[in-house]
Amino acid sequence: MSHDVVIVGGGVMGSSTAYHLLSADPSLSVVVIERDDTYTRASTVLSDGNVRIQFGLEENIRISQHAIEVLGRFDDDMATPRFQPAVAARHQGNLFLADEASKAAALEGIELQKRLGCDVAWLNPAEIATRFPALRTEDIVGGSFAQADGSVDPSAVLRGYRNKAVELGAEYVEDEVTALIGGRGRMRGARLRRGGDLMCPIVVSTAGAWSVDLIRPLGVALPVIPVMRTVYVVSTTIPTPGMPSVFLPSGVYALPESDRTWLVAWSRDEDPVGYDFTPAGRQRFTDLIWPELYRHLPAFDSLEVESAWAGLYAVNTLDGNAILGEWPGIRGLYLATGFSGHGFQQAPAVGRYLSELILGLDPTLDLSRLGGQRVLDNEPVHEHAGRLI
Ligand SMILES: Cc1cc2nc3c(=O)[nH]c(=O)nc-3n(C[C@H](O)[C@H](O)[C@H](O)COP(=O)(O)OP(=O)(O)OC[C@H]3O[C@@H](n4cnc5c(N)ncnc54)[C@H](O)[C@@H]3O)c2cc1C
Repeated sequence: MSHDVVIVGGGVMGSSTAYHLLSADPSLSVVVIERDDTYTRASTVLSDGNVRIQFGLEENIRISQHAIEVLGRFDDDMATPRFQPAVAARHQGNLFLADEASKAAALEGIELQKRLGCDVAWLNPAEIATRFPALRTEDIVGGSFAQADGSVDPSAVLRGYRNKAVELGAEYVEDEVTALIGGRGRMRGARLRRGGDLMCPIVVSTAGAWSVDLIRPLGVALPVIPVMRTVYVVSTTIPTPGMPSVFLPSGVYALPESDRTWLVAWSRDEDPVGYDFTPAGRQRFTDLIWPELYRHLPAFDSLEVESAWAGLYAVNTLDGNAILGEWPGIRGLYLATGFSGHGFQQAPAVGRYLSELILGLDPTLDLSRLGGQRVLDNEPVHEHAGRLI
């Protein structure tokens, strides 16, 4: 049987793309191949679910503005007779603390964010101390704060998109794509481990950190590596209500989760590359992360590491940003990968963008600067701070 579109990988990107395709044209035949319907290793369900407008690149800011809008009405928009999503949006605000070295980039970011209509402010140390007394402000020069930033439940978003896409007619098949079939500059389909070949002129690779291996045999060398990131679940004496998500100048972050529980992590250059899901041990937390946390949040002197998990960032080593759209020179091969740790919040805009490209519509949000041509031309499109979260 032939289809109009085959999507490889039914995580948040694949499911958002299926949903957007079918909302625009319900007559399409869209099949999503997902090898694990429990999503045990999908980055989407292993993510922190943080959404922020505090980026330094116009595209990333606009993508997140769209996410905040969509997630605000997601529970209603994605409800089906079989499934009622509950994304549990919390706008606790993200506070990026700055030291002397990071201040200029933070101020530059605020200027751009404000120009694009974001409600974001620079807080000086005294303002931070008044507003968030749990923070120690001696080692910082201020911080950038946006109240609209916050967290949602990423699994609920994935399930919401998936169920709505199915209601609109998407077919989900639990199988693994072992090879993409293409040649002479165009796609012809995908080979399944259990089910033979699916013939189709349009193949969307939304296979997350695994995309790079899937696409390589077609002669596409993406600058994307799978990097393991560990998140620690920490219980503390600090009540989370009223606390923002705190991002330290070093890159350590602490996200208030529930009651006195925080999610804490630090992405480091030495994090393992490969498909490993064994979280780093508690020693790493104690030796590396805890002293840094304690310096800025002294109430973290008393805590319990309850558990930890690890997931994969698809790190784009060229510039830390997504690679989106039809790959130059291969008609019908569409990609969305390389999100480098901020992809969850990009799913609404990316799914819409890919669907518009596939359907030949003018994109609502022009994301062409994030296309594959910049990879081929070796022309990075960086965030100002160059930091991956
Ligand atoms: C610890 C951690 C914290 C994060 N925190 C945030 C955050 O706070 N905010 C944010 O915006 N982003 C965050 N991210 C990043 C975010 O999770 C990802 O960018 C996003 O979820 C990517 O979605 P995806 O659908 O591309 O990939 P995935 O969710 O990984 O989905 C890919 C799917 O493809 C399937 N697949 C792979 N290969 C094949 C194949 N050959 N055949 C069939 N199926 C296949 C997989 O089973 C998987 O389900 C975080 C990531 C991690 C690991």
